[in-house]
Amino acid sequence: MAPVNVSKICCIGAGYVGGPTCAVIALKCPHITVTIVDLNQARIDAWNSPDFKLPIYEPGLVEVVKQARGRNLFFSSDVDRGIQEADLIFVSVNTPTKKSGVGAGFAADLNYVELATRRIAAVAHSSKIVVEKSTVPCRTAESMRTILEANSRPGCRFDILSNPEFLAEGTAIKDLFAPDRVLIGSLQTPEGRDACAALTAVYANWVPTEKILTVGLWSSELSKLAANAMLAQRISSINALSAICEATGANIDEVAHAVGFDSRIGPKFLRASVGFGGSCFQKDILNLVYLAESLHLPQVAAYWRTVVDMNEHQKSRFSKTVVDTLFNTITGKHIAVLGFAFKADTGDTRESPAISLVRDFLSERAYVTIYDPQVEESQIWLDLAEACPLVPLETIKKQVTIAPSALDACKNKEAIVIATEWKEFKEIDWSSVYTHMNKPAFVFDGRMIVDADALRAIGFKVKVIGRGERV
Ligand code: NAD
Repeated sequence: MAPVNVSKICCIGAGYVGGPTCAVIALKCPHITVTIVDLNQARIDAWNSPDFKLPIYEPGLVEVVKQARGRNLFFSSDVDRGIQEADLIFVSVNTPTKKSGVGAGFAADLNYVELATRRIAAVAHSSKIVVEKSTVPCRTAESMRTILEANSRPGCRFDILSNPEFLAEGTAIKDLFAPDRVLIGSLQTPEGRDACAALTAVYANWVPTEKILTVGLWSSELSKLAANAMLAQRISSINALSAICEATGANIDEVAHAVGFDSRIGPKFLRASVGFGGSCFQKDILNLVYLAESLHLPQVAAYWRTVVDMNEHQKSRFSKTVVDTLFNTITGKHIAVLGFAFKADTGDTRESPAISLVRDFLSERAYVTIYDPQVEESQIWLDLAEACPLVPLETIKKQVTIAPSALDACKNKEAIVIATEWKEFKEIDWSSVYTHMNKPAFVFDGRMIVDADALRAIGFKVKVIGRGERV
């Protein structure tokens, strides 16, 4: 087979990865028709909305979609047609952690990947390059190949590539425009190398070729889990040190600065916080844990498991700090939680630390008011209902209010908890907030964004994660 000149791409899954990734491919490759398909009609409608009210919030995304949509970028719920017309198909469906059954709580739920793969086999009339974009356990491509080969029409051949996505939510467009690297894994056969060359040629339209790394299939799959595990490990390491700082009076900012000056360590990703969230870090580490266990490597599994355990500890440690500082009880007290997304510049709340904090405050019978500039109210109720499965939503709604602004959220409260590092929380008129609060007024900064001294000068009692000052 000669290398395919890709002219039509289909992406199965119009989510946080499939949407931005393929929108950028369409923008950068005007000669390629890109169709992003999804079973979720509401999501597709939002991608197609005339006023560009897209289903996900990402800085710069609207501008990309505005330029490419209708030109060579299309969104559709006609999955079969998208598959049939494409010569290269990205599988970018969700791979959550299994909720029940064997490996529940650890293993990746590959149901969506399998269903998408079976659909490709069922409807494709011609040969395709199938690209694993979803984050999957090592050797998933082998299962996909088995399914495709067993179910395909005569004359249809499928070449599988792994092309994991390394974008970070909140900076997705920036990351896609100038990625640190693009990783493509293929079988080391002539056909595998041809397929790899075809995908390389797509990315080479804007990514410098020295940043396009081509490796074996299994290395590519494992590299994605490894990258996320090591990033999360860095956060858990600095968070573990933040606890020691709080107990000793050291300052985690200063420690991180000093440590990061070592060129072997480097300064990035050394910011202490209330804990990591998002759909990937925890899920991918638990996936690695499951993989290690299934390979009879219990010490390796235990090693990675501690990264997640430390993160859980950090979240509950922060909740406990709030309770302890508010004179050991928050029952009947009013707390404002600023931020509900798992990080700034996204509306995504998956595994957001804010959910754990609010759940802890509710279990202590506090009243909570939440404000987030991007998270939909309906999403907050969904998350809280899931986090407190034994409490009826009506009961939760008696304890929780959702505010239209940060200032509204803080009015008549005893304490403010900063759970997400939104820029607007740095720029609040803190003097005005102070006048509207019950006294003594506390601020608990889980993201190290406030100027603690300035707030103390106003009259607040301030606790910042990783700093040992007493309030
Ligand atoms: P998502 O839930 O936002 O999107 C997945 C989409 O796939 C959903 O809209 C769903 O309806 C659709 N889908 C599922 N099965 C389908 C099918 N058979 N046919 C058509 N559509 C189908 O998920 P996401 O955040 O975009 O993540 C996708 C993958 O990328 C996951 O494996 C994730 O681990 C990985 N990843 C995510 C990020 C991130 O920051 N979100 C970063 C890198 C990698």
